[in-house]
Amino acid sequence: MVGDTGVLVGSDADPMLHDWRGVYTGDAVAVVRPSSTEEVSAVMSWAADHGVVVVPQGGNTGLSGAATPQPGRSTGTPQPDRSTATKPSDGADDRPCIVLSTARLNRIIELDISGWTMAVEAGTTIQAVQEAAAGVGRLFGPDWGARGTATVGGAIATNAGGINVVRYGTMRDQILGLEVVLADGRIWNGLRALRKDSTGYDLKHLFIGSEGTLGVVTRAVVRLQPPADYSRTAMAALPDLDQLMPLFALARSSNPDALTAFELMPDSAVARVCSLFDVYHPFGGGSGSAEHYALIRLASHRPVTDALADLLARASERGLITDAVLATTSSQEEQLWFIRDHLSASAIYPLHPHGLKMDTAVPISSMARFLDTVQAVAAEMVPDAVVYGFGHVGDGNIHLYILPSDESAIERFRTIKPQLTARIDRATFELGGTLSAEHGIGQELRTRIAPQKPSVEWDLMGRIKRQLDPDNRVNPGVLFPPPGP
Ligand SMILES: Cc1cc2nc3c(=O)[nH]c(=O)nc-3n(C[C@H](O)[C@H](O)[C@H](O)COP(=O)(O)OP(=O)(O)OC[C@H]3O[C@@H](n4cnc5c(N)ncnc54)[C@H](O)[C@@H]3O)c2cc1C
Repeated sequence: MVGDTGVLVGSDADPMLHDWRGVYTGDAVAVVRPSSTEEVSAVMSWAADHGVVVVPQGGNTGLSGAATPQPGRSTGTPQPDRSTATKPSDGADDRPCIVLSTARLNRIIELDISGWTMAVEAGTTIQAVQEAAAGVGRLFGPDWGARGTATVGGAIATNAGGINVVRYGTMRDQILGLEVVLADGRIWNGLRALRKDSTGYDLKHLFIGSEGTLGVVTRAVVRLQPPADYSRTAMAALPDLDQLMPLFALARSSNPDALTAFELMPDSAVARVCSLFDVYHPFGGGSGSAEHYALIRLASHRPVTDALADLLARASERGLITDAVLATTSSQEEQLWFIRDHLSASAIYPLHPHGLKMDTAVPISSMARFLDTVQAVAAEMVPDAVVYGFGHVGDGNIHLYILPSDESAIERFRTIKPQLTARIDRATFELGGTLSAEHGIGQELRTRIAPQKPSVEWDLMGRIKRQLDPDNRVNPGVLFPPPGP
């Protein structure tokens, strides 16, 4: 069905059976790599006939274990016996499984310059889309550290965000049309390039954020933007975290069209990245450093250096910042963003699998309160822990980690983790927030996510899943909370 190079087994398949952080691992008969929509359709039909579970996988850069198969699956040869196909949505499920990789679906199909759209296959990387757009004087808005590996299909399936959401929105805002292969192998061609369409349910939105549980996205039409010819970034030192959101409000109100990114970076992590990668600390490190920085990018078709300098001056007058570094060349700007790209705890803190990872979003006006609450809860329950928050605060999202201080603290941390998690989750819900802003639910948040949505919403989501995948074969064991006791 997929040619000689289309199937990987044994050690060749192994990297696709773990997530990149090394937190999740699972079993599969093989990794199958179709190279066309028709091949995906053939594989999905075969999987339906043989009762085989399918786990779609793009670049495998996800942060919630959503692209990793479950452990304990049979690795024997699948038999054409549909009687084994229907299994409960949870519990013992040893049906054989394949990982369906989109690695070979990586072509740019059409670049419509005057229509400001691009049609791509789902396995195309975010960077390839960015570069193709830039090559014809257009811009693809989304961007984040994993750009070189993360794929369009994975980004759609997680409704990815990244550093430019404040300007261009999430992945959902980029998608005009989709083609999807359904659980039974049928192809839905919704590959439209329309900006307006008032003809009923907009089905593409079902698949955006579905984490591969409703089918395999094979192609997409994405929206392109006018490029920003000028870009400048500043790293501003904050006197304390209370000034973070007032600084954001000032940046936004004084540069409503040019503000492209507004990120929080703690010095502990900046210093760690600088020492790990042998990069110069923008504030020199040591006594020249503050505890927290805001990384602010303005971009526009007009020069922005003066506007950024003006913003920094006004922020300083108001006591919102104590110092700032303004990158005046592209290479200085790249260096600041290199530090930001490498801030994830998984990259710099070896004890990250033992800690508590959060991808929280709260209404922007509640961000300061949320940060205060987390600091207070951590100080009370695990006073010696490393508390470490960074990310896209300009869109209300923060990546927060609470980590054991060292190896000797792991066991104590493990004991207290459930209560710690419950208190922070409760605070998130009380502020009207979400446990997952952009990383998805995956395997990671399944047991915590139920209280976030009304039971009617889970019921509707379950009905949609059962309609499109009655045998619960397409990426089971992610996204939905496990059934109650
Ligand atoms: C250094 C680093 C920085 C990151 N920064 C950000 C960030 O700022 N913002 C952000 O949102 N994310 C970020 N991520 C997470 C990750 O890059 C995104 O979640 C990305 O969207 C995943 O894409 P992927 O191709 O790797 O998908 P995978 O990890 O392979 O899969 C993710 C999910 O998508 C499903 N899926 C994949 N392809 C398809 C398809 N074709 N059809 C249906 N389902 C599919 C999988 O089943 C799984 O549920 C970061 C990751 C790293 C490593």
